[in-house]
Amino acid sequence: MKTLLPTTISGSLPKPSWLSEPETLWSPWKLNNEALIEGKRDALKLSLHEQQCAGIDIVCDGEQTRQHFVTTFIEHLNGVDFENRETVRIRGRYDASVPRVIDAVTRPNSVFVEDAKFLRSQTDRPIKWALPGPMTMVDTLYDAHYKSREKLAWEFAKILNQEAKELEEAGVDIIQFDEPAFNVFFDDVNEWGIAALERAVEGLKCETAVHICYGYGIKANTEWKKTLGNEWRQYESIFPMLQRSNIDIISLECHNSRVPLELIELLRGKKIMVGAIDVANHTVETADEVANTLRNVLKYVDADKLYPCTNCGMAPLQREVARAKLKALSDGAAIVRNECT
Ligand SMILES: [Zn+2]
Repeated sequence: MKTLLPTTISGSLPKPSWLSEPETLWSPWKLNNEALIEGKRDALKLSLHEQQCAGIDIVCDGEQTRQHFVTTFIEHLNGVDFENRETVRIRGRYDASVPRVIDAVTRPNSVFVEDAKFLRSQTDRPIKWALPGPMTMVDTLYDAHYKSREKLAWEFAKILNQEAKELEEAGVDIIQFDEPAFNVFFDDVNEWGIAALERAVEGLKCETAVHICYGYGIKANTEWKKTLGNEWRQYESIFPMLQRSNIDIISLECHNSRVPLELIELLRGKKIMVGAIDVANHTVETADEVANTLRNVLKYVDADKLYPCTNCGMAPLQREVARAKLKALSDGAAIVRNECT
């Protein structure tokens, strides 16, 4: 990446009201069949346009192509029963009715590759594509077949690797795996979570990222955050192994969170996507606030490895708020970029 402090977003942007219910996470599509395919592409173009107008350097589809960051991918796999569901506790925080794994999981066709090709055809900027991470996939399902989280994660990692290779072929510059579960199951992360992630990126030549956050600004997450105390040290137990992993970029929540920033020192040498925009708050950050967060993080990250970013996805926000937050991110990064050169 030639630009110093290239900006990007960690994931989703709000969807237009004609595509799905606004300000609602994971709301169902309002269109069907051909109209849905066309609607998703129109929304992708709008989302890309808003990122480019705001001056975002590494762009994505704003997750206009998926209803849910995990289940939309799983819907395309064989071996999973979406009809007879089971209620499980997600990341130990909230109950959800989830699909059941009933047979060997396989990927009969590519999932997002056509969407990624479409995004590639619409912009000359570097593009990033997000996939769910293997551990977070396991945590969003009931497993009635493998009866082992580790084994199921390994099967998902192989499937993700097939998809990632096709995304790379389609011209994706950075493939990101969303692993909020890394913030919860520390022993599993160190025992098999990072190994599964490395299996998912095996043989890729494009850059790879892992996004580890404290979740969307939904009630279950904000309530959970209240129980974590004044210092959130969750990252501390997984950073040393991540630092030694072959993942290129780590995407973290920083602004307005209680993560002690010095923990980032444990990742020295990695590229860091620094969350400088709070997604659980409708107040738009000023450019100076963004700049401050970036300056604070620069103590622990070399300037050529810092990517100003959002804490998490912005899907549940009002569109004007998300748009203003994109602009603040870009303006804040510009301030610090000028100081560095
Ligand atoms: Zn996130």
